[in-house]
Amino acid sequence: MEDYSKNTYFSTFKRLKDNQFKVGNTTYKERITKLNALKRALDITYKNKLREALYADFKKPYIETDITELYLVIKEIKYAKANLKAWTKKQQVDTPITLFGTSSWVKYEPKGVCLIIAPWNYPINLTFGPLVSAIAAGNTVILKPSEMTPNTSKVMADIVKDVFNEDEVVLVEGEVETSKELLKLPFNHIFFTGSPQVGKIVMNAAAKHLTSVTLELGGKSPTIVDKSANIKESIKKIVWGKHLNNGQTCIAPDYALVHESILQEFIKVYKAQVLNYYTEDASTSNSYSRVVNERHYNRLINHIENAKNQGATIELGGSCNAKDNYIEPTLITNLKEESSLMQDEIFGPILPIKTYKTIDEAVAYVNSKEKPLALYIYSNNKKNTNYIINNTRAGSTCINSNAIQYSNHYLPFGGSNNSGIGKAHGFFGFQEFSNMRSVLKRHVKGPVYLLLPPYNNFKQKLTD
Ligand code: NAD
Repeated sequence: MEDYSKNTYFSTFKRLKDNQFKVGNTTYKERITKLNALKRALDITYKNKLREALYADFKKPYIETDITELYLVIKEIKYAKANLKAWTKKQQVDTPITLFGTSSWVKYEPKGVCLIIAPWNYPINLTFGPLVSAIAAGNTVILKPSEMTPNTSKVMADIVKDVFNEDEVVLVEGEVETSKELLKLPFNHIFFTGSPQVGKIVMNAAAKHLTSVTLELGGKSPTIVDKSANIKESIKKIVWGKHLNNGQTCIAPDYALVHESILQEFIKVYKAQVLNYYTEDASTSNSYSRVVNERHYNRLINHIENAKNQGATIELGGSCNAKDNYIEPTLITNLKEESSLMQDEIFGPILPIKTYKTIDEAVAYVNSKEKPLALYIYSNNKKNTNYIINNTRAGSTCINSNAIQYSNHYLPFGGSNNSGIGKAHGFFGFQEFSNMRSVLKRHVKGPVYLLLPPYNNFKQKLTD
């Protein structure tokens, strides 16, 4: 056994490890009591503090905090509460004839001590959402939120101290180094949400202990708009999905693939919709948040500058204010394929448009890149829609809308390969934090007895 005693977080880890069976053996009702306490904190006690903290972190409008953070975690809690009794029950399975005389079931047992590492873009939802699944499944947990939303992390730390015992759930604040130190410990499961680059670091660290991982990653989510789409309705959703949280959403439409015959109409309606949602000057709109920090602001401005230098056309926006990390809703066409906007995940309020002539061309373009976390299709042509779904791969797809697939907890949420491994939400989240333990019990002698050595005297074995 490796000596972890010098690790900064070893004593915390050990406390959680020593307590794992006590927590693991809690009844579903006791787990619901914990979930209720968390729900009360989010819904009542700390609601305003969380809204204020996220506003201080990147001017996130209160209403967006309510809808995209608090509501989603509370919904996850309600769903787990309603189903936990059934999920934690032993799941009887069939018995093949060759195992006559036995019965079998699956027991969802907790994995043990889990680490949840969260990003900054939806800090409450992506820290507490997985926590709901981990608690429902009976684990002890260390939470490590992002250092980039410090105001929110601080309030979340207070909530954890308030709601949980320190041998059940602990929140550790800190920078990347904190994360690296935690990753050295032999957790039983790691649930990581963040970039594919860091996902690889997490998976590497987990491999050392053969720790199972859930990796909720990102990438470039395409939005295909074909000739049959209702442009006005489609754009209402695309503009919302792109600019919600200032484009800093893992499942935001990253780029649009638009049929060449509707490009001009697309641009015209997009401009009108931006005006409609955020007024002439989005910096004065109370529905428009900011880029999270200077580093990301500079990264996005560089994308725009590079595109301009390569001859791209800024159809809308492009203005900015470094003091406030503000970038106007921006629409760009005529991009070179090698431009950084077409290569990197954008994660900001910029939508590049690429045109296509045939559905095959659009599909080939999507398939030339890593498998996306989400793929959106705006179309009223069933044949095109099915063709796109059957000939591409993605974590999820939304037809004639975007982002809202995330809020259906009956659907698994996650990516595929570069966009992620494993699934979250509802029962899928519970499953991710559980080990499916197979149990078989023998009741009476069955035919298996006949197979014991010596391989003769079958009659006698049956009467023994
Ligand atoms: P990130 O990968 O930079 O950071 C995520 C977490 O990892 C943070 O807590 C950070 O402290 C930690 N971290 C950073 N570098 C590390 C390292 N070298 N070693 C160990 N830990 C490290 O991601 P981010 O910038 O916070 O978030 C944006 C990314 O997350 C985007 O790619 C986005 O698509 C993705 N994302 C995915 C989902 C999803 O559900 N699939 C949701 C939100 C965001």
